[in-house]
Amino acid sequence: MIPASPSSRQPPSWQRALQQAISDPAELLAVLQLGPQWLEPARAAARLFPLRVPRGFVARMRRGDPRDPLLTQVLPLGAECDAVPGYVHDPVGDLAARAGAGVLQKYHGRALLITTGACAVNCRYCFRRHFPYAEESASRADFEPALELLRADATVREVILSGGDPLTLGDRRLGALLARLQEIPHLRRVRLHTRLPIVLPERIDPGFLAVWSAVRLQKVVVVHANHANEIDDPVRDALAGLRGTGTTLLNQAVLLRDVNDRPDDLVALGETLFAAGVLPFYLHLLDPVAGAAHFDVPEDAARSLVAEVAARLPGYLVPRLVREIPGEASKTMLQPASR
Ligand SMILES: *Cc1c(COP(=O)(O)O)cnc(C)c1O
Ligand code: SF4
Repeated sequence: MIPASPSSRQPPSWQRALQQAISDPAELLAVLQLGPQWLEPARAAARLFPLRVPRGFVARMRRGDPRDPLLTQVLPLGAECDAVPGYVHDPVGDLAARAGAGVLQKYHGRALLITTGACAVNCRYCFRRHFPYAEESASRADFEPALELLRADATVREVILSGGDPLTLGDRRLGALLARLQEIPHLRRVRLHTRLPIVLPERIDPGFLAVWSAVRLQKVVVVHANHANEIDDPVRDALAGLRGTGTTLLNQAVLLRDVNDRPDDLVALGETLFAAGVLPFYLHLLDPVAGAAHFDVPEDAARSLVAEVAARLPGYLVPRLVREIPGEASKTMLQPASR
């Protein structure tokens, strides 16, 4: 008799890393050797939107630096509790765009599936921080109502798995969903919108790569990194694994005050992404979501910034500056300022 190996009974290590994410502000501050003055505001803001950050991502932050660009993206601040005019709960009109069953369709040829409400990290600026996932996820009834909508609409060429983060789903559920998607004859492409290869690169393990490689549709993965410091060796390995499956890799970033709003930040991000096999795609202006006003970079400053970046990088590494305006037929492209 061959005894079962212990590893076959344990959950994959990425699931343990996901469960062990830091959610207590006191612990985050202690790990980063930051003083107690941050604690009370962090606790207050975490009651509105919980703190959540994987330990591997924290390991890339500088100790003792409250202005670290990675920390700034995840540390709850007192400013989040202030109401600011114009900053609202559903800034991009997601609730109006729902085609039902957790499917959002705003643009021709593409449908977006809210596969789950879960994320590995809670980004403080997230436009979905108030989204009612419990009611809107496509995962109910094992995705069948969502799949039915996709089957019925032959104009849909590309399905985007989003969330939340689709890679928080296990391999078995993802594999079953992907298998049923590729049976839909009019679908040509499947795209993942995920931050896990960046914040929890353990997720891109042999089990996932086997599931993903089996997909015969054209594969696109759009990751989300905002600063070059987010990309370390485990992230590079995860991205290389994805590239090995014939996937086109793109990045979308959000322009954030005190995170990536200097030309040097965006130049370093573009260079570092490309060295890891990823092309910069969108640079989003902040969506005016309640609690995130302190991250805003005004449009004029953003256009000047991108002009500066364009003067320093090859054209293919200059991200497209976009804003999402509810009701428009695509993301709205903003031109770099003339210099
Ligand atoms: C942003 C978005 C997309 C993707 O737009 P692309 O320009 O193709 O990247 C698709 N559907 C919804 C609902 C979106 O918000
Ligand atoms: S990973 Fe994406 S969806 Fe999740 S909190 Fe961050 S920005 Fe929002």
